[in-house]
Amino acid sequence: MRVVVLGLGGWISSPWLGYPAIYVETDRRILLDAGEGTYARLAQCGLALPDVLVLTHAHGDHILGAPTLLLMARRGGGRLKVVATASVLSSLRRILEAVDMPHLQQNMDPVEVPPDGEVEEGGTRIAFAPARHSVETVHVRVEHGGRCVAYSGDTAPSDSLVELARGCDLLIHEVSGNPGQEEAAHAVGHSATGDAVEMARRAGVRALMPVHYYLNAPLIPPGVDIYVPYPCASVEL
Ligand SMILES: [Zn+2]
Repeated sequence: MRVVVLGLGGWISSPWLGYPAIYVETDRRILLDAGEGTYARLAQCGLALPDVLVLTHAHGDHILGAPTLLLMARRGGGRLKVVATASVLSSLRRILEAVDMPHLQQNMDPVEVPPDGEVEEGGTRIAFAPARHSVETVHVRVEHGGRCVAYSGDTAPSDSLVELARGCDLLIHEVSGNPGQEEAAHAVGHSATGDAVEMARRAGVRALMPVHYYLNAPLIPPGVDIYVPYPCASVEL
C-alpha cells in the first residue's frame, strides 16, 4: 500500500500546501477527498486519475476539485466511482449543476454509503464511521493486503475514529489548532494537535500524519511517531 499526499492545507492555509486530497494505492487507486486543485496536484505528483473518489463531507475545501476529476474522466472516455453518503452525493450533484456541468453526472458512478457503512473495491475494503464535524462527515479506513490507513476527515475528538483506526499502520488526522486552542477547535467540529496524538495513541496506530492545518505551522506534542507531510510526499506501508 502506498499513500501519497496531494494536498494538506485547511481551507485557509498557505497556498502551496494545497487542499485536502490523499491518494491511496492498493489494487485500486483511491482518492480520499478532492479539494480545489486536486487534478493539478495529481499531475504534478505524476499520478493517474483515481478509480475511486471517496468524499468525507461536502465542505468546499474537500469537494471542489471533484468536477475537474469528472471532466478529465469524461475526456478519457471513462467514469469515476464516487463513494459518499447520500447528502454529500446530493451536494456534488448540485455543484455540477451550479457550474453548468450537469452532464458530468453521466461520468460519475455514485456509490451511496451510510456513515457507518463499508464497500469492497477489488481486494480493498473501505470502511466508514461517523465523525464529529459541523456537517455530516465520515472517517475512512482503507485496508488491503494486511495494511491499513485511516483518515479522520474533519472532526472533533472522536471515539468512533479510535475504533475504526484500531491497529492501523497510519492515521492521517486533521489538526486545526495548536496546544491551547482545543476549545475553539472543538466548538467548530475540529481537533487540535494534541487531540490527534491522543487519537493515534488510543487507536494503537504505528504512526500519525497531521494534515489540514492553517497559517500557523503545527506544533505536535510528543507521544507518537510522525510522518511529516508535504505535497507529493509518498509513504510505503
Ligand atoms: Zn469541513
